[in-house]
Amino acid sequence: MSIETLRIAGIDKPISRIALGTWSMGGHLWGGADNEQSTRTLRQALLSGINLIDTAPVYGFGLSEELIGQALRGVRHSAVIATKAGLQWDDGTPRRNATAQRIRKEVEDSLQRLETDYIDLYQVHWPDPLVAQEETADTLERLRREGKILAVGVSNYSCAQMDDFSRHTALATVQPPYNLFERAIDSNILQYAKRHSLVVLAYGPLCRGLLTGSMHSATRFAGDDVRGLDPKFKAPRFEQYLAAVAALDIYARECHGKSVLALALRWVLDQGPTIALWGARRPEQLRGYEEAFGWKLSADDLTHIDRILASTIKDPIGPEFMAPPKR
Ligand code: NAP
Repeated sequence: MSIETLRIAGIDKPISRIALGTWSMGGHLWGGADNEQSTRTLRQALLSGINLIDTAPVYGFGLSEELIGQALRGVRHSAVIATKAGLQWDDGTPRRNATAQRIRKEVEDSLQRLETDYIDLYQVHWPDPLVAQEETADTLERLRREGKILAVGVSNYSCAQMDDFSRHTALATVQPPYNLFERAIDSNILQYAKRHSLVVLAYGPLCRGLLTGSMHSATRFAGDDVRGLDPKFKAPRFEQYLAAVAALDIYARECHGKSVLALALRWVLDQGPTIALWGARRPEQLRGYEEAFGWKLSADDLTHIDRILASTIKDPIGPEFMAPPKR
């Protein structure tokens, strides 16, 4: 099955609708990293036709970007690199900083770590309430004119913030959390993106692993794994979400001959101009990616899926716990 692609304004290449998310490759907040496995995963993604790689300086405090730079030696132009700016971590705690000065420093650091002279998509990681949108957006616009970045995106922005931001530079993408269990954008960002021809880079499409079907009630998270703090993975909610995954898995297999993982990705892809940022750090995790392509969920499927969610998840909660503090 051939991979589905779409276009992002400013980038002269078809872009795979499944991207590789590389937060966990940084190790920090994911219980540690295995660089060799991460590198093999990056190569496997490219071989599979997954050409968009999403990263950020804060992922492993530079490690994720460095691994990407190394893995792309000699093949950089076949990939589309999406990285970010606007977080700093002087004492090890990421805090928002989207000043012109910070972004100017970050872009040079990222270019060096990524071993490239341009970034395809440069995204503001989180809105910084202490800095005018104009300052941040103007800085990105200048970087675009200088040829250091090809396209501009934002992440975790509201519609009002995007309105303000896009007065100063052409916005191409928005990156919000989005998956079967975290659908806050349905009523606002998604419609906004459709109206303004933005591509939505959906992060956490597998809800940090829940929607892979590989978790069970005895699953525990080691070290600093972010899921140790995540209220979805604690009683009483964990059992509810696991029950939803089990029911979705049965539905996916009986009605479509697919896994719940493929169903979760397909659901994201069927909602609009979306790309699913699949977080993987071992090559075998990407096995079966093609199962997400070449079919669609019908209106009946969507109704049935919503019924499953309503009957299993009694205390829904979003990913708000992940928001980093301001300075
Ligand atoms: P995700 O993609 O929903 O899930 C990743 C998790 O799924 C990992 O725990 C991984 O397991 C597991 N997994 C992946 N493939 C699997 C498979 N085939 N079988 C079993 N388990 C599998 O969550 P995410 O990594 O949080 O989000 C994806 C990407 O979105 C990130 O890497 C990052 O690029 C981006 N993101 C952006 C923001 C932002 O603020 N802009 C925030 C979060 C994420 P292991 O733990 O075993 O590796």
